[in-house]
Amino acid sequence: MSQAPIERRGVAALAAGLAAGEFSAVELARHFLARIEASGLNAFIDVQPELTLAQARAADDRLAAGERGPLLGVPLAHKDIFVTRGWRSTAGSRMLADYRSPFDAAVVERLAAAGAVCLGKTNCDEFAMGSANENSHFGPVRNPWDTAAIAGGSSGGSAAAVAAGLAPLATGTDTGGSVRQPASMCGITGIKPTYGRASRFGMIAYASSLDQAGAMGRSAADCAVLLGAMAGFDARDATSLDRPAEDFGRAIGSPVEGLRIGLPREYFGEGLAPDVRRAIDKAIAALRAVGAVTVDISLARTGLAIPAYYVIAPAEASSNLSRFDGVRYGHRAAEPADLLDLYERSRAEGFGAEVKRRILVGTYVLSHGYYDAYYLQAQKLRRLIADDFRAAFAAVDVIAAPVSPTVAWDLGERVDDPVRNYLADAFTLPASLAGLPGLSMPVGFGERGRPVGLQLIGRWFDEARLLGVAGRFQQDTDWHLRHPGESA
Ligand code: GLN
Repeated sequence: MSQAPIERRGVAALAAGLAAGEFSAVELARHFLARIEASGLNAFIDVQPELTLAQARAADDRLAAGERGPLLGVPLAHKDIFVTRGWRSTAGSRMLADYRSPFDAAVVERLAAAGAVCLGKTNCDEFAMGSANENSHFGPVRNPWDTAAIAGGSSGGSAAAVAAGLAPLATGTDTGGSVRQPASMCGITGIKPTYGRASRFGMIAYASSLDQAGAMGRSAADCAVLLGAMAGFDARDATSLDRPAEDFGRAIGSPVEGLRIGLPREYFGEGLAPDVRRAIDKAIAALRAVGAVTVDISLARTGLAIPAYYVIAPAEASSNLSRFDGVRYGHRAAEPADLLDLYERSRAEGFGAEVKRRILVGTYVLSHGYYDAYYLQAQKLRRLIADDFRAAFAAVDVIAAPVSPTVAWDLGERVDDPVRNYLADAFTLPASLAGLPGLSMPVGFGERGRPVGLQLIGRWFDEARLLGVAGRFQQDTDWHLRHPGESA
């Protein structure tokens, strides 16, 4: 049927090829394993071909028995923040460099049950803290569109893997933008669902009130399939949403006539690079051309997202990361003089600079006397930011905005400037603080041929609509089908 090379086919085409016997799950897995081996992007932390091939053989047995499923035999990669049996589970940290989990994360378990074949664990910022994938103990990920550029973070390995055709799909996590931002910088599609859609069980915790698993793929259709298999209630996660299963791809192919798209003025002001702005404006014009209506809106508290997030996230991180003490979990320092020395050196050696910085900030804002001034204040801002969205969604159906103020920057360019990294999160943090679903889709290229993504933010539980709008856009455009190495 399709003559496209295997690594460029969509998930439905891969499932069809498997069903028709064009290739086996083992052959498919071998194809991608060979591409991973040859890639040189540092997108993976752990690859274990024997484990992958064992899963592929099991999928082939199920296919041979007549079973069919949208992901049965389809390979994918997991961000190395989901614990997995077999593969290492490192969270990009020296602290867990050799950690092997005795169980699978809920998301991993669900995808394995659906017959998806795990290709390995993708590189990420340490404990998912970062916007450039340069905070990984295992080294930075390179952007397949320009290997001098960052891949974005923290799910940079997943984004680079999908963009380079090393995996058709990948899981990611998004606490403040880590699915959307690397998706944008690597020219792929990624969706962070409503907070609580996918179980956090077995997802190594960063900031629990924000952490959410998401789906990364080339197209909206592929993301819908992956998200559908990831989402669902799980009693092991206290904030898991108990909602009926849905087909997240159900609106793909529907018209967008009359759809009201809000354009928040705070996202289009100073700070948005002109090359990004041009690509975003063209994409919005394309949606208008097929019948969507744009409405200028204001989300007045947008500017408070960075200060609120960079209090709340470190506060929660400082608490979550206290378990890594060399006794209960994590790297243990050699030959400790006494217990205190064991704690101190294990943590000093195990954590990288950015993680330490956040533990210090988090401990500070939670400490007596500062809790009210910082942490409680940030929680109030968080509520106001959510209120802005609630009010806006009375008048519009989706919100369109940039994902990142600039295209991917150069590797090394900002490593010594944490605040500059934090500022780059300005457009992704608000939806995270409000728990809203957000999607990034490729809409063109900016400076030096580096990809630009458009963000769509939806009402709570409105993932299907976001994917529908992206799917409509992808009907008429081919940005999502471009492949690095070809002329843009
Ligand atoms: N860049 C943000 C941070 O460093 C978001 C990371 C994320 O979503 N995991 O915290």
